[in-house]
Amino acid sequence: MTTRHAVVSGASIAGLSAAFWLRRTGWEVTVLERAEEFRDGGQNVDVRGTAREVLDLMGLTEAVREQNTTETGTVFVDSAGEVRAELPSEGPDGATAELEVLRGDFARTILRHLPAGVEMIYGDTISSVEGDGTRVTTASGRTFDTDLVVIAEGVRSTTRDLLFGDAVERRDLGIAMVFGTIPRTADDDSRWRWYTTTGGRQIHLRPDNHGTTRAMLACTDNLTRLDRKEALAHFRERYADAGWQAGRVLDGFDRSEDVYVDQLTQIRMPAWHRGRVCLAGDAAWCVTPMGGGGASLALISGYVLAAGLSGARRVEDGLAAYEEWIRPLVDDVQNFPRWIVPFAYPRTRLGLGLRELADKVLTSRLFAPVTAKMTQVAASDRALPPIAAVR
Ligand SMILES: Cc1cc2nc3c(=O)[nH]c(=O)nc-3n(C[C@H](O)[C@H](O)[C@H](O)COP(=O)(O)OP(=O)(O)OC[C@H]3O[C@@H](n4cnc5c(N)ncnc54)[C@H](O)[C@@H]3O)c2cc1C
Repeated sequence: MTTRHAVVSGASIAGLSAAFWLRRTGWEVTVLERAEEFRDGGQNVDVRGTAREVLDLMGLTEAVREQNTTETGTVFVDSAGEVRAELPSEGPDGATAELEVLRGDFARTILRHLPAGVEMIYGDTISSVEGDGTRVTTASGRTFDTDLVVIAEGVRSTTRDLLFGDAVERRDLGIAMVFGTIPRTADDDSRWRWYTTTGGRQIHLRPDNHGTTRAMLACTDNLTRLDRKEALAHFRERYADAGWQAGRVLDGFDRSEDVYVDQLTQIRMPAWHRGRVCLAGDAAWCVTPMGGGGASLALISGYVLAAGLSGARRVEDGLAAYEEWIRPLVDDVQNFPRWIVPFAYPRTRLGLGLRELADKVLTSRLFAPVTAKMTQVAASDRALPPIAAVR
């Protein structure tokens, strides 16, 4: 059989997982990444549910565990920093998962363990795809005659928009988040501290394994049209009377290189493949941190894609099998009840009081099984599809 070739666009978790598994199953693989070099940075992601199985099959569980963020639990705090309630963190899928890792560390781990022969090209992007995915031209003028195109360019994927256009539905969840790395202080402990106040505002502080603290502000706003500087100015105004550690976090963001602003937007599409082109990870189905499990789904997608292709004679059939297997996992995360957003982000004192009461109930022993279900994402009762001819 002649060797088949795939072009994978995007060198983060979804693209690198696809490259790993396609190469393992005998494909020639070229990865194109828009950035000039590997993109580090980003905050906490976790490996949950079926993704733990995939990570095990890749032989990378220990490598990821070694880079654990060191977080030991999750607590809700009040404006004085006192703990009001504690989420259970026992078991692999607790609020603080067993495998918590920074996005950059996770992606780099996969990159470092790619099977030999994967071609990595940085600083280039796809400019056109012809023949339903058999000819790719890049912005710098490279051309590839190929058998498969995998678009794994994240939520704002331009190649997806170019090829799938109107089929892309963006669902704004009405929440803006800014993530950043700030200096650690003596008060920062090993837990994820989560503060909610009125006006639909939250502050999060989490430990990392690099001697710094990972901070996040999240509020009910739409910042789509703002650049990073404008977004930070907006957050400063919005958090002026938020209390707890708002001032420290904003001062830290002003000095941080690693700040990531996100308007939580689900990507929903009726199909994730056409001809010999498919989508993977956030480009296909961004679930947002509100749903959770985005990194896990991205990792799983690489395996399921290669498995689908390894069991099919035609690429098109393999892509259909891939989509059929993974869609229920994505639907499960995307279809959370609409009341979750106003509940998680109360606007008034009354709303905050109700939220605090609910936190107490949900974190009680009696409700432990219900709470455990809420943090279980990217999990399936189905076995992973078999993969043929693993080298
Ligand atoms: C720098 C960065 C920081 C992040 N920080 C956080 C965070 O703090 N918290 C959080 O919850 N999520 C964060 N995310 C998103 C998180 O990584 C994803 O939700 C999840 O891991 C799914 O990964 P993915 O591989 O599908 O997409 P992403 O991780 O978004 O990766 C997409 C990759 O494709 C590349 N790319 C984009 N467009 C093109 C193009 N046209 N051609 C070629 N390559 C392209 C990007 O440079 C990137 O390497 C971050 C993503 C990135 C890239």
